[in-house]
Amino acid sequence: MLRLRVLSWADSAIRPHTIRPISNMITPSVLAVHKADGASTREGQGPIAGKPAHWGNKQGTLFDNPWDSWRDASAGDIFGMFAHSFREMKSPPSSEVVRHFPIRVPDFGASFQDSHPAEIKATWLGHACFLIEFPREPDQDRGIRILIDPVFSNRCSPFSFMGPSRFTPAPCQAADIPEIDVLVLSHNHYDHMDLPTLKALASKPESSHVRIVVPLNNAHHLASTGFASKQITELDWWESADVDIGSGKGVIRIGAKPAQHMTARGISDRKKSLWASFLFETRPSLEPSSPSGVKVYFTGDTGYSALSPSADPDSHFTTDTPVCPAFREIGEKHGPIDLALVPVGAYRPRAFMSPLHCDPWDAVRLFKDIKAKRAIAMHYGVWQLTTETIDEPVRLLAESRDRLGVTEEEFGTLEIGQTGVYPVGK
Ligand SMILES: [Zn+2]
Repeated sequence: MLRLRVLSWADSAIRPHTIRPISNMITPSVLAVHKADGASTREGQGPIAGKPAHWGNKQGTLFDNPWDSWRDASAGDIFGMFAHSFREMKSPPSSEVVRHFPIRVPDFGASFQDSHPAEIKATWLGHACFLIEFPREPDQDRGIRILIDPVFSNRCSPFSFMGPSRFTPAPCQAADIPEIDVLVLSHNHYDHMDLPTLKALASKPESSHVRIVVPLNNAHHLASTGFASKQITELDWWESADVDIGSGKGVIRIGAKPAQHMTARGISDRKKSLWASFLFETRPSLEPSSPSGVKVYFTGDTGYSALSPSADPDSHFTTDTPVCPAFREIGEKHGPIDLALVPVGAYRPRAFMSPLHCDPWDAVRLFKDIKAKRAIAMHYGVWQLTTETIDEPVRLLAESRDRLGVTEEEFGTLEIGQTGVYPVGK
């Protein structure tokens, strides 16, 4: 069996590392998976000897959040959450939806192509879906494009006839997405991994060139989409894959990083597929020593700090509970980060949701931990998943920014379908 040895690239001790077989992993444009080490998930701190702390078995098919900032839901917690949601969940009036969420037809930055060649173009397609275009090389007509967590279906649910349906329409469909180079899926929840959308993307003529990156034990979910298994690379936390896009467009390093969350698509697969955040770094070449250029960080779906089960459902602005240490570690290893995509929605009731989802107060603290220069708010504006009103995340974001000394220019919002341009290194 052909195997490849590479050197650890991170600031942990450099050591040779044997990676998974090339035949399963390497598509023509993926050079290698690099392994690094994270203090917040180090071997010896978790339940499985010789495995990282977030592994729940030796096979790498069960995972957990190995931090004091995490608390698993008890049966009582789940009952309380359903009772709260049954009492409090209300459909937003359509007048409020139109007022708070104007929808733009995305042009994915085409109107900025000539005026802003050296800036990052980020198009928000609602909830956690973004199309990111990196600055283009001088002789290129576009930069490297990454599509993240695309969901264009009406419902985020295992069923087409029940489950949360959109209160804002999708700003486009898979057919409207321009040519992409990399598709990244953060985890298997239905509001992030939508098989009908992935099938539609796979049916596009250019789809065979797309590299797909997912956290460990997620590739099998994509078996029915039409993407070939050789296109898919699975990464553990702190691993990264270098992708040479070809045609002079450059190289992108895609690094899976921790996030505090969980996974399930049914009733028997809880935490059996890994969840992750992702760091994207442009690089001039595949040389291991080549420097990082532009850095964009996607938090995935994440909580930050678990409140007590008896906490007030309206509780915000707390500072006395442990926070997830992984974000500070990401900031120390990789900051400064040019642009971060950070969740601010689906957070009530706080006692139940805080381990899983940031509220805006958590989001701004996380933004500071990762040493990001700019951030765009996400994970709101599409489905009523929890009981906060649809306009509350943006209001609480403004208040959280004020309390923590962050400006709107630093951590702002986009309209659904809108493209923002973001500077590099400033
Ligand atoms: Zn999720």
